[in-house]
Amino acid sequence: MDNRAEYTPKGIAFAPSYECPGGCLHCNIPFDRIDAKAELDAGSAARALREAKAMGLHSFQFVGGEPTLRGDFMVEVVAEGRRLSMKPHRPPTNCATAARPEYLRDLFARLKQAGFTAGFRVSCDEFHGRVPPESVAGFIVTAADYFDLTRFAIGCCDKDEGRSRARLERVARAMSEMGLESRVGAAKMETARGSIKLGFWAPTRPTWKSLPDSEFVFRDVADEDAGAGAPRDGSPAPITRFGCLGPLGVGYVWIDPDGNARACCGNANLFSNKLIIGNIHAEPLAAIIDRARRDPAISALAEGGPVALAAQMGLSALLDRKYTHRCELCAAVLNA
Ligand code: SF4
Ligand code: SF4
Repeated sequence: MDNRAEYTPKGIAFAPSYECPGGCLHCNIPFDRIDAKAELDAGSAARALREAKAMGLHSFQFVGGEPTLRGDFMVEVVAEGRRLSMKPHRPPTNCATAARPEYLRDLFARLKQAGFTAGFRVSCDEFHGRVPPESVAGFIVTAADYFDLTRFAIGCCDKDEGRSRARLERVARAMSEMGLESRVGAAKMETARGSIKLGFWAPTRPTWKSLPDSEFVFRDVADEDAGAGAPRDGSPAPITRFGCLGPLGVGYVWIDPDGNARACCGNANLFSNKLIIGNIHAEPLAAIIDRARRDPAISALAEGGPVALAAQMGLSALLDRKYTHRCELCAAVLNA
C-alpha cells in the first residue's frame, strides 16, 4: 500500500460526556443512538494525556456535549495538562451553565487556579433551542472576573449571518445591562474588558435527522488539491482533496466517554464507527495510533480527505453530488 501521508493527530480531544441541554436544530451528535449520560473518568483522561505527551502531542481540547457540565473533569485534566506543559485549546460552550451562577463561579475559580488561561469558544446560535442569549451574556460577564476576554471567541453557526448578528445584538445588550458595556462590531464584539473575535459559518447537515435543505449551503466536490478550489463565481468554495487527517490537516485523536478513540475531531466522526481506531481502556494510545497509521482508509483521509477515500473505495459517483461540508461527504463514503 502506498502510504504517502500518515495520520498525524495534532493533539488529543476529550468528550467528557455528550450530555447537552442546547437542543440545537443542526446538532451533529446522533442523540438517537448514543448514551448521552455516559461519562469519561478524569483519571483515564489524565493517563491518555500523559501518553499523548510522551508521543509528542502538545495540545488538548474538550469537546462534547457541553463540557462545562463536567467541571471536576475539566479542572483535573487542565491541571494535568499544565503539569505536562500541554496547551489547552479554547473549549466550546453554549453557556447553559450560566443558569447555575454559583456552579459557574466555582468552576471558573478552580480552572483559574489550575492555570487555565485559554478562554472559551462561545457558541451563539439562533438554533440553540433552550439557551437564551441572556445566558450567553451571563457566562461572558461572569468569565470577565476570572479570564482575559480577548482570549475568547464567539462562533455563530447559521447560514444567515443577519440572523446571527441579531442574536449577538441581544447578547451585547444583555451584557451592557449586566454592567459590562458591549457592542457588536464587524469582526469583533467590543466590550469594556477587551474585544472578542466573532466567527460566522454555515452548519453541516446532520445525517441522523432530516432538516429542510433551505437551512444549509451546499458545495460541489472538485477532485483537485486543496488550494486549487477557490470559488470562481461567488459560489461557495468546493470540497477539494484536503488531507484532513494528514500532517497539514486538522485531525485530533478524539476520546469518547466510553474510551473509544476516534481518528478525527470532524463533524462526521460520530456518524461512522469506521473512524473508531481503538479504546484507551484496552490498550496504550501509542498502539492505537500506530495501528491507525497502517489503516488504508485512514491513510487515504490523511492524503486527500474523503475525496481521496471515495476514489480509493470505488465510490467516485458520490463526488457528483453536493454536500454541506467535507465531513458530510466523509459520512456518505464511510457509510456507503
Ligand atoms: S450546543 Fe453543541 S452539542 Fe449541544 S445541542 Fe448544540 S450543537 Fe449539539
Ligand atoms: S472529513 Fe472525515 S476524517 Fe476528515 S475531519 Fe471530517 S469526519 Fe474527520
